[in-house]
Amino acid sequence: MVSTLTDAPAAPVPFFTQAESFKELWPLITRHTDDVFDRGKFSHGRKVAELERAIAEYTGAGRAIAVNSGTDALVILLRAAGIKPGDEVIVPAFSFFASASAVSLAGATPVFADITNDGDYGLDAVSVEEAVTERTKAVMPAHLFHQLVDLTALSDVARRHDLMLLEDSAEAIGMRWGGTHAGLVGRGGVLSFFPTKTLGALGDAGMILTDDEDLAEQAAVLRHHGRMGKTIDHIAGISNLSGVSGTNSKMDDVQAAILMAKMTRLDRDIARRAELADAYSQRLRGTDGVLAVPRIVPRTIETEPVFYVYQIEVEARDELVAHLTARGIGTEVYYPRPLHTQPCFAGTDIGLRPGSLPNAEAACERTLALPLYPDLTEAQLETVCAAISDFYAGRR
Ligand SMILES: *Cc1c(COP(=O)(O)O)cnc(C)c1O
Repeated sequence: MVSTLTDAPAAPVPFFTQAESFKELWPLITRHTDDVFDRGKFSHGRKVAELERAIAEYTGAGRAIAVNSGTDALVILLRAAGIKPGDEVIVPAFSFFASASAVSLAGATPVFADITNDGDYGLDAVSVEEAVTERTKAVMPAHLFHQLVDLTALSDVARRHDLMLLEDSAEAIGMRWGGTHAGLVGRGGVLSFFPTKTLGALGDAGMILTDDEDLAEQAAVLRHHGRMGKTIDHIAGISNLSGVSGTNSKMDDVQAAILMAKMTRLDRDIARRAELADAYSQRLRGTDGVLAVPRIVPRTIETEPVFYVYQIEVEARDELVAHLTARGIGTEVYYPRPLHTQPCFAGTDIGLRPGSLPNAEAACERTLALPLYPDLTEAQLETVCAAISDFYAGRR
């Protein structure tokens, strides 16, 4: 049962909820969790292996390696790909923090490049090329909100400079590039199953995706203290991991059970997200104060968008947020501060001065994510849109 733990009145439109979905899913979740309880193995057990197979099948990945968050998936992906101290990895200045911190956590140096201004919020190939040095080993774009970055342009740059292409595809489940699932266009990618993601667990969980058997083996070992199967030898026989230790990033079987149940609804959830995104855009396009609704940038290849986040650009963003919050409407700012000016990087060689990556900085000031999830109703969507119209009407 999903119960209400407080008597606080529900907000008219929360930024995220899955209470209705869970009413439907609960019997199936219980079947999967009962399996886990019956076997008594709660970490890195058979339900996790079952989920790895299901995700490999859904994405077409040669290997899917379960870990305990999207962030860990990125760190382990980078380490398994051989990224080490002294190496540079080019990442976007506009993304979730983990796109950059994963590189630092792998011991290497994140180097920031700008995003395009064509509405995909994706890493700009020209800016990437300017950031290449003799230490650059990889470029790692992030696919944000509803579409993939321009992988043709980025693959070209990677090829010309002999860089690995890795993908921060944490947000991109279901997105495909000419039929290839996100994360599998380059050497490897990741998924995050953070609760608000398109396929979310009830806690942290993540996955590494790759077609590269070697990389997969190393990732599988690194997530489990570097252990080779049941032996007590840590990092035996894997030459490019000699001298490194693994970590503990095993997935919980209870999260895998929840994800197995939710996967049965994934395609339906994705379709519902698309329907709601379309309804938002029809209602908001041309609204005073709304500078942009999400745009699907045409590519040289057929792509499949998935609306994980419905992101608009607006005038007076922070005042609008206050207006909506006062009316019980949840929003999020993805992302409020460009990564190259984050305090943890600003005082170091890694950070860059404000003004150096203008598209990333502009996006941080104008973007706003509206509530978008399968449980959202058309009436709630209208409440959000009406409140936005009211706000700008009141300012004229
Ligand atoms: C969510 C996310 C991550 C991190 O995933 P967690 O599971 O929260 O650790 C990394 N990169 C991007 C772009 C994300 O959106």
